Amino acid sequence: MPSEAEKLAINRTTNLFVVTGPSGVGKGTMIAKILERVPHIAKSVSATTRQMREGERQNVDYFFCSSEEFFKMKLRGEFLEWAKFTEHYYGTPRSWVEKSLSEGQDVILEIEVEGAKQIRQKYPQAVLIFISPPSYDELKSRLQSRATESPERILTRLEKAKEELNSKNLFDYEVINDNLDEAIGNLEHIVYAERLRITR
Ligand code: ADP
Ligand code: 5GP
Repeated sequence: MPSEAEKLAINRTTNLFVVTGPSGVGKGTMIAKILERVPHIAKSVSATTRQMREGERQNVDYFFCSSEEFFKMKLRGEFLEWAKFTEHYYGTPRSWVEKSLSEGQDVILEIEVEGAKQIRQKYPQAVLIFISPPSYDELKSRLQSRATESPERILTRLEKAKEELNSKNLFDYEVINDNLDEAIGNLEHIVYAERLRITR
């Protein structure tokens, strides 16, 4: 006997969710929980030219590649969207996303703001969610305590964050990630509410 969640999945069209917002705001942390809690949803793995961080895995966290490989993929039209973020390139592989959606699975993209704007243009039906920090100082302290970048690179990301925070009105939803559990709960509500939508 299918569960209620499974019945819902059978009777619905699929959704492309885009989770965007400044680096360090908690996108990755929140999405990891959504993937554990919500059935029939998967996160796209992006290609990037940045160095692998300690603990990251090739083809799981990212397809880590050279700039040459990245540009070959771009020329072949393999990206749904791509952007340069600080000094590195990031792109979403088109074929996996299209295949997953056509097979009845919702997809989440975790991408920066320029890429999210491209998705807004190309896929007007995509659901775009902006994650905001409770304050700029809190964003700074999250990036500092994550400690995955040098102090100079953290500063670059914080400068970029100022621009990104000004773009939030282009998106459909804002979730403030102050209390983590509440923020995850709000993201989960958005996913389920969008699954019940009749029109867009
Ligand atoms: P992003 O994917 O947006 O760059 P991360 O998910 O890597 O951000 O989160 C950045 C850091 O902030 C991580 O160390 C994470 O554990 C921490 N973090 C995430 N959400 C919260 C929160 N609500 N309160 C405090 N720390 C948080
Ligand atoms: P990080 O280096 O911290 O992993 O990622 C830097 C920024 O790039 C984050 O905001 C992340 O969401 C974003 N990002 C990751 N993959 C992609 C992608 O495929 N496209 C775009 N446009 N941004 C991405």
